[in-house]
Amino acid sequence: ISEPQRPRGMRVMILVNPHSGRGQALQLFTGHVQGMLTEAAIPYTLVITEHQNHARELVRKADLSQWDALVIMSGDGLLFEVINGLMDREDWQEAIQTPLGILPGGSGNALAASVHHYSQSPPAWNEELLLSCGFMLCKGLVGSMDLVSIHLASRQRLFSFLSLAWGFVADVDIESEKYRHVGAIRFLMGTLVRLATLKVYQGRLAYLPVKESDSKTRALLDTLLPGLDQPVPESWTVVREEDFVLVLAIYQSHLAEDLWTAPGAMADDGLIHLFYVTAGISRPALLRLFLAMEKGAHLACGCPHLVYEKVKALRLEPLTPQGMITVDGEMVEEAHFPVLGGSCGEPGQA
Ligand code: ADP
Ligand code: MG
Repeated sequence: ISEPQRPRGMRVMILVNPHSGRGQALQLFTGHVQGMLTEAAIPYTLVITEHQNHARELVRKADLSQWDALVIMSGDGLLFEVINGLMDREDWQEAIQTPLGILPGGSGNALAASVHHYSQSPPAWNEELLLSCGFMLCKGLVGSMDLVSIHLASRQRLFSFLSLAWGFVADVDIESEKYRHVGAIRFLMGTLVRLATLKVYQGRLAYLPVKESDSKTRALLDTLLPGLDQPVPESWTVVREEDFVLVLAIYQSHLAEDLWTAPGAMADDGLIHLFYVTAGISRPALLRLFLAMEKGAHLACGCPHLVYEKVKALRLEPLTPQGMITVDGEMVEEAHFPVLGGSCGEPGQA
């Protein structure tokens, strides 16, 4: 986004998840994007995913020299598959430089909303957001984007472009899947349901704070992550509280189309924006935070339970078997005592 350049030739693979959002991604593509691509004379190949992990397997084996960009028409979940498929490859260092695009077709379109926001356009939703992202695609605007490396206690390693969530946010994300037919409003519905049965999640949280003198990271810094069986180094901050309502690490500006969660975040700022809410917050206060988030005003609420830190790495160790952990909105562990770390770096392309 920051350094406009027209990719060579522009042969684009467009991956569509026909079940994302309200199940209308394909119709949205033919109705709003197809004509735009034709007018811009951009040749593309449409791939309709047939099952979960179809896209991941496809990009893992694809001959990437054939494609100038991989574009996802779905929610954030399909991009998560594509990024992890690229990182599965032996030639991942080169593969992850492939320009990626997102066209909002899901119910969770956080990256699309973020990219639109970075383009300094006034806020847009639904079809208008789709048109904006389609436009950016046609113009071939490409910029760098951070990826975060995540290690789970199960020894699994993942790459994340959006968020790591535990507690309230993760539970809402997964529980609201059943309302996906209503579209993006599913998060508000899920929030109201979860508020009624608000839970406290016990765990340990530690992080490596950003120092003013830190240079912008240009490599995946797994060296920042002490082994999960090791204590965190002295330079880390260990959070005193162990009773949380939510922990959310986000590295894009938006968590959803109408949640401007990290107002200062940029695609390649090399930062993990860490938010946590400690136990004791009232239901109305928590609701107020989420409502204020639409305008990015939650930090101005003066809520003593909300903490925000810019960090380079973190470790989260749930101590109660309740609650889920999500990465980029996808459930990764059912939180039976997992431990995780994350570290920021390695710009990909967006
Ligand atoms: P939404 O924002 O609506 O949740 P996502 O893009 O996040 O849309 O996709 C939801 C889930 O569907 C993801 O876990 C993704 O991996 C999975 N998926 C992708 N293609 C298919 C398919 N053809 N059938 C079923 N699930 C799929
Ligand atoms: Mg970022």
